[in-house]
Amino acid sequence: MKFHRVFAAQLLTLFCTVFVGVFTGVADAKPLKVGITLHPYYSFVANVVGDRAEIIPLIDAGNNPHNYRPQADDMRRVLSMDALIVNGIGHDEWAFEIIQAAGRKDNLPLIYANSGVPLIPIAADEGEAKVVNPHTFVSTTVAIQQIYTIARELGKLDADNAGYFRKNARDYALKIRRLKAKYMGELAKLDTSTLRCATMHGAYGYLMQEFGLQVVAVIEPRHGVAPTARQLGDTIDKIKAADVNVLFAEKYFASNLSETIREATGVNMYAFSHMSDGDYSAGLFERETQANLETLVNAMRSVSASTTETPPSEATPSTNVAE
Ligand SMILES: [Zn+2]
Repeated sequence: MKFHRVFAAQLLTLFCTVFVGVFTGVADAKPLKVGITLHPYYSFVANVVGDRAEIIPLIDAGNNPHNYRPQADDMRRVLSMDALIVNGIGHDEWAFEIIQAAGRKDNLPLIYANSGVPLIPIAADEGEAKVVNPHTFVSTTVAIQQIYTIARELGKLDADNAGYFRKNARDYALKIRRLKAKYMGELAKLDTSTLRCATMHGAYGYLMQEFGLQVVAVIEPRHGVAPTARQLGDTIDKIKAADVNVLFAEKYFASNLSETIREATGVNMYAFSHMSDGDYSAGLFERETQANLETLVNAMRSVSASTTETPPSEATPSTNVAE
């Protein structure tokens, strides 16, 4: 008899679970499958959705997003997505080819991370339509704008979790704001009035703008691919002509050509992360941003130290600190 009672109780519990599940919709609520195209967007989405959605990178890690050619696996992945987050302003054009090829052009909700972001114009190459700098993901404040857009749009697709996404976005934004404030404070202590800075490529335009630093020259409009010997010669000429004392370049470029360029031009080169290397992870954006800001402050410190010969208390006030 006792056995029957226990069994009946278990049956009742099971029935209640199913009953409650059906009537609250819990049994039907499948986590969203959210696609992303670039590494920073993985970090943004991971921090917004926590464990309440699945993130599917459209392409395998380890590929260069600048010259990517769509693969068969990308097609399989795009078919399983409920939505796809895109840069959409020139850094993931291949995503649109994949969507088209997989027949999802009309039935895959796209979330344009950059809708509402003030974009920096760039001179277009002849015959090209791209006229804005697409590197909005190498930034702090502009990244936060994208994080809020992503959270809002994902909330529309998953109304039950909209509040949760919103709260996570706010918490994540606060962490990024604090990171920015820390390094902004460091920069404010430095006299950068003699800074003349160039970036090898346009990838750091948003970051430099956010920190109030003027870039006097962008050496190469194209980036993400190694220069030929002849292009390197031209690059060196351009750096000399720009008359700069600090040059920022991408990690791979700086590590391979730093010495050559310094010897030829006398300019110190500092390496920034473009945030497209390594595995996809929730922590990548913060880690790489911190490294970039550390590099930025170190570079400014080198200019400040090499030009400030009088103690700060006796120095003539600069009219143009941190231009
Ligand atoms: Zn790029």
